[in-house]
Amino acid sequence: MSDTFDVIVIGAGPAGYVAAIRAAQLGLKTAVVDAFVGKDGKQALGGTCLNIGCIPSKALLDSSKQFHNLTHNFALHGITADNPKIDIPTFTGRKDKIVKQFTGGVALLFKANKITSFFGKGKLLKGNQVEVTGNDGTKQTIAATNVILASGSVPIELPFAKFDGKHIVDNAGALDFSEVPKRLGVIGAGVIGLELGSVWKRLGSEVTIIEALPEFLAAADTDIAKTAAREFAKQGLDIKLNAKLSKAEIKGDEVHLTYNSEKDGEQSLVVDKLLVAVGRRAYTDGLLADDTGVKVDERGRIVVDEHCHTGVDGVWAIGDAVRGPMLAHKGSEEGVAVAELIAGKPGHVNLDMVPWVIYTEPEISWVGKTEKQLKDEGVPYKTGSFPFAANGRAVAMNEGVGMVKVIAHAETDRILGVHMVGPVVSELIHEAVVAMEFKGSSEDLARIVHAHPALSEVVHEAALAVDKRAIHKSN
Ligand code: FAD
Ligand code: NAD
Repeated sequence: MSDTFDVIVIGAGPAGYVAAIRAAQLGLKTAVVDAFVGKDGKQALGGTCLNIGCIPSKALLDSSKQFHNLTHNFALHGITADNPKIDIPTFTGRKDKIVKQFTGGVALLFKANKITSFFGKGKLLKGNQVEVTGNDGTKQTIAATNVILASGSVPIELPFAKFDGKHIVDNAGALDFSEVPKRLGVIGAGVIGLELGSVWKRLGSEVTIIEALPEFLAAADTDIAKTAAREFAKQGLDIKLNAKLSKAEIKGDEVHLTYNSEKDGEQSLVVDKLLVAVGRRAYTDGLLADDTGVKVDERGRIVVDEHCHTGVDGVWAIGDAVRGPMLAHKGSEEGVAVAELIAGKPGHVNLDMVPWVIYTEPEISWVGKTEKQLKDEGVPYKTGSFPFAANGRAVAMNEGVGMVKVIAHAETDRILGVHMVGPVVSELIHEAVVAMEFKGSSEDLARIVHAHPALSEVVHEAALAVDKRAIHKSN
């Protein structure tokens, strides 16, 4: 045994690295074990989110939005450019620089907080020991009073459309196409399919998305999903609902798809690249020795209680590897809570108040319950909504599309859910999160002064509309 710590974290994604930093801040001797190999062959901290998820996808979404605006929207402002082009190596290279800046930033934070970093695969052994296997196969065993499992998730692979890394790719592959695919097929109209489908559509790909469910964005509020679907259709994203892929064959440089559509029967489609984005699964391969006592559920997730404790003394689990939404901020907050619990402080994450954001154009965001959920639960509610088309700032930005909907309890007026589709709603949603965390009512939001002209006036007006007193629309 080489080293003993207060805390060892396995996995340095947004759940694990945040847990480690908070533990170190609280004076705990902390180590992190992470196996992620960056593009340069060296250790790259930050997990899926920083390397192949949140950060690189947002970099490409932003670049592709700039290009789309230049080719489609600037003329409205009287700005024109002859023959605009996009250079793909520069486009993906910019993203790589941002990734390196942030993964390197985590390494610096580890150093500043005196966190010991191990590069290799960690395996939990009985008695809170961790075996670390380096890339060269060397093994060492370290131990701690507490071990936090934060091994994250990986893409689900379909047996009839296996990833080959070139033609049939996962999210990592779709961040790094060397040229704009003429025809891009996407399996799954979920968050990744819509975000990465939008990136390549804006650069000129013909994008077809095949979605198994009959309903578009089933987790979102129905009105929001309908508005988004209409806008995506206008942009030319071809989304086929109620369609099930049965075969994907690579023939030369093409992928030949066969799928069954409820509406049109068996269909075929030929694409140049296929992105499979049908969800992610908790990743625990090689993480647990047989006798640790840590349990995994039927979906492969590490079983934890409401405090992220596994039931085995001193063993905790957080992030995508456990129940709850697979979102970076949810994992980070669990990391903070667990570090604080280990240090003897109170720590808790309210999973009912985790905001969702989809970074398409328009953006989509929500927090709390949908109307459908409240109906199913038999909770009486009232709603108010307001369109961005009636907001001066949104129209001045040429982004007067979408709406905000506030749902409040019919009797107490407490806000139960807020749903948005429109410009910059990734930021606007946090006004709702704060109001809801403080157990606010729609009247509280309605009585708060909002600057004019501002996009957040739409949130204000939607709150006023709950009481049928929105000013800039007929109620
Ligand atoms: P991960 O980030 O997956 O990190 C786990 C780490 O543990 C990895 O580095 C892995 O190599 C390492 N590891 C695993 N097992 C071991 C082991 N045995 N030993 C050592 N190391 C190990 N979420 C958002 O909130 N906002 C977004 O905008 C967003 N965009 C996304 C875009 C894409 C394309 C994808 C794929 C995901 C996106 N997500 C987003 C989801 C987000 O990336 C995840 O929710 C988040 O990364 C989960 O954090 P985590 O720390 O639990 O796991
Ligand atoms: P997802 O769960 O969001 O969407 C997967 C979609 O694929 C669903 O609509 C599902 O019905 C469909 N599907 C499943 N099997 C299918 C099949 N055989 N054929 C056709 N469609 C099928 O999953 P994702 O897009 O892979 O993303 C994984 C997770 O990563 C997300 O749920 C989210 O937690 C996280 N993520 C978050 C962000 C963000 O916060 N902006 C961005 C990307 C990813």
